[in-house]
Amino acid sequence: MAAIARTLRPLARAAATSSSRLPQSRNVISRSKQATRCMTTTPTRRYADANETEEIDLEGLQPTPIFHLTEIEQAMKDSVEKFANETILPKVRDMDEAEQMDPSIVEQCFEQGLMGIEIPEKYGGAGMNFTAAIVGIEELARIDPSVSVMVDVHNTLCNIAIMKYGTEESKKKWLPKLATDTVASFCLSEPGSGSDAFAMKTRAEKTADGYRINGSKMWISNAMEANFFIVFANLYPEKGYKGITAFIVDKDTPGFQIAKKERKLGIRASSTCVLNFDDVDVPRGNLLGEEGQGYKYAIGLLNEGRIGIAAQMTGLAIGAWENAARYAWNDRKQFGTLIGEFQGMQHQLAQAWTEIVAARCLVYNAARKKEAGEEFVKDAAMAKLYASQVAGRVSGQAVEWMGGMGFVREGLAEKYFRDSKIGVIYEGTSNIQLQTIARLLQREYTA
Ligand SMILES: Cc1cc2nc3c(=O)[nH]c(=O)nc-3n(C[C@H](O)[C@H](O)[C@H](O)COP(=O)(O)OP(=O)(O)OC[C@H]3O[C@@H](n4cnc5c(N)ncnc54)[C@H](O)[C@@H]3O)c2cc1C
Repeated sequence: MAAIARTLRPLARAAATSSSRLPQSRNVISRSKQATRCMTTTPTRRYADANETEEIDLEGLQPTPIFHLTEIEQAMKDSVEKFANETILPKVRDMDEAEQMDPSIVEQCFEQGLMGIEIPEKYGGAGMNFTAAIVGIEELARIDPSVSVMVDVHNTLCNIAIMKYGTEESKKKWLPKLATDTVASFCLSEPGSGSDAFAMKTRAEKTADGYRINGSKMWISNAMEANFFIVFANLYPEKGYKGITAFIVDKDTPGFQIAKKERKLGIRASSTCVLNFDDVDVPRGNLLGEEGQGYKYAIGLLNEGRIGIAAQMTGLAIGAWENAARYAWNDRKQFGTLIGEFQGMQHQLAQAWTEIVAARCLVYNAARKKEAGEEFVKDAAMAKLYASQVAGRVSGQAVEWMGGMGFVREGLAEKYFRDSKIGVIYEGTSNIQLQTIARLLQREYTA
């Protein structure tokens, strides 16, 4: 099994048999008891995940710093940092120029256990918690935001969809594949429906053996690498968005076609495609969850997924900042001194780092609140909004701090800058995040 999983499983087992504060898996109440080190003021809560109802008294817990990681999360951070530096970094520039993910990187992400982070061990995954996934996504983005988003979409949208809404049969069928060799895509957006996602035109109809899907999807990440597609289609258009239903579609299904691969400004190694569905017949077992519940699933999954994108953006900002700071403090001299010695530069570096840490606080707080079963939707939106703003600002400044060397394609500064732009667009644009935050605040403050 995968390297990370190999490294971490003994720890997970130890946690399961001892009273130590190590977590073992995302659905275990003992983990959530110790994983509540968040900046929350909610005293007592009921665990919101399916099948978990135990009362947790948060007041009895010792508060710890927001960035405190459990032993497993720290091991995830260390091993992903090593993998990203040793294996991904040498390929980053070439993958960006080729606008293609190197297949060996995909393979090694599986090998490292990064494609089944939260999938329970009994289905072949690493059995870790949500924050471990966030840590991994952030560390990957520090080196390559494209690899990071591949891992993010696969774990935080697709794996979770099956874990939350799949039947036991579909979990047994799909989760072992998703953990070991099958990349997944999440297909919601369409040419005519982006921010207004539920205005989708893709339709499903019932057949004797299952369902038939017709329509098209746009902007689908991972599509070139994926064999497994979670597709949202309206089964009962007369019911409006309440007809939206989620299906699992295999790449080899007749009528399924990748119509176009987009050429992009940033995250160019991550594939983004238009998909066509022309009388795509799927068996009844490929219905995900219940008919007509797709809109609820999409909202729920995207609320969680946004924390992943926020982590991608903080990782990107850290990578851009480090790249430039090393240059300023070690390499580049002007006026006979290292440019990082100038107070004007130091103040900018300090300001940017402070903003990065503030963004990370929002990300980790949202992740911990989600894990603790608390209300986290506003926190996730704030984390995604702010982290993507910081990533754009810091990666832009980092280009300036490196002067001409930041502008050329020899280094990675310009790439971080290009890659940062997607953060304010996907999984809900900044305006949509602001709308969510405002709506929830208004609800709180309306008498
Ligand atoms: C690289 C990439 C990868 C993607 N990956 C996926 C994927 O894997 N799966 C998937 O399903 N989708 C994916 N998407 C789609 C992505 O989620 C959408 O692009 C995003 O939701 C925005 O939709 P849109 O592009 O249609 O923009 P629009 O919705 O047309 O928005 C355009 C502008 O109008 C603003 N706007 C829209 N509505 C409002 C409003 N009510 N109030 C204020 N302002 C508003 C927006 O903020 C934005 O500035 C991806 C997109 C990209 C570019």
